[in-house]
Amino acid sequence: KKQKGNTISVFNEHRQTAEIGLKPSVENELFKAIEREEFKLFFQPIVHVETGKVHYEALLRWFSAKLGSVPPDAFIVVAENNGYIKEIDAWVIENVCKTVATSNWITKVSINLSTKTLELTNFEQTLLTICQKYEIHPNQIELELTEHSLLDDEKVLINKLCSLRKAGFQVAIDDFGMRHASFNYLRVLPVDKIKIDKAFIEDIHQDSKEYVIVTSILSLAQKLGVKVTAEGIETDEQAKLMMAVSCNELQGYLFSKPVPVDVLMKMEQHTTDK
Ligand code: C2E
Ligand code: CA
Ligand code: CA
Ligand code: CA
Repeated sequence: KKQKGNTISVFNEHRQTAEIGLKPSVENELFKAIEREEFKLFFQPIVHVETGKVHYEALLRWFSAKLGSVPPDAFIVVAENNGYIKEIDAWVIENVCKTVATSNWITKVSINLSTKTLELTNFEQTLLTICQKYEIHPNQIELELTEHSLLDDEKVLINKLCSLRKAGFQVAIDDFGMRHASFNYLRVLPVDKIKIDKAFIEDIHQDSKEYVIVTSILSLAQKLGVKVTAEGIETDEQAKLMMAVSCNELQGYLFSKPVPVDVLMKMEQHTTDK
């Protein structure tokens, strides 16, 4: 029964070397991840500046029995290419809703979705059915769309986003600014929010290029009536700067890393105890 391939043992010792040989096993193991219950949801707070209210982004974690902990950036793309992303996204939606339903303090969540999932026939209805099952109102859910696969079929996508928003779901463009089509998405897609990628926040200070770009995005978004979240806030300085330029929401390690819901609950109790 010794089936441990070379790639796995190499993985622990020399990650770089192993990555070349790793792809096929990520692919193989991924198909078994759901039934083996290897996925877990982590949550990261997003702070609404004006009200101080907090909602949470669900971020998927994969603890593979064979591969160890595999970061989403190493398997989401694989899943998008082989189609398994639809199963993954469905698992995420179901389990996020379950989490919201069983907690009495999480009032709103953001879910990352691949456009592959969104393009499924009846996706809107499926999502609504799950919400009904868990007695969750659509306005408790925000859908984050990543740009790289956004415009497979523009018209279909626009229609879907319209009906999702009509039902009460909110829609955000994720990683805003990282693709050359960012501004076109903002032009054609009906969205409530953009999330400025953490790459722009990393080195931001008042005399930086990033500051000019970020403040321009903010003023543009304000004129278009679109809200803005800044990702990757790690320092007080970054938070103060983003608040000073009226960014709507802040997210990053300064507030918390993504953590499991039970850890989140303890943090929540801690802050309300004070
Ligand atoms: P994303 O949606 O842009 O998520 C933000 C990423 O930045 C997360 O990485 C988060 O852990 C990380 N992050 C948050 N705050 C900070 C900070 O202050 N500093 C730094 N350096 N990083 C920060 P993560 O969890 O590894 O996720 C990577 C990407 O994988 C996500 O990027 C998202 O595109 C995708 N992803 C994660 N979960 C899901 C999911 O359930 N479904 C789908 N379709 N995609 C997912
Ligand atoms: Ca996201
Ligand atoms: Ca991002
Ligand atoms: Ca991303």
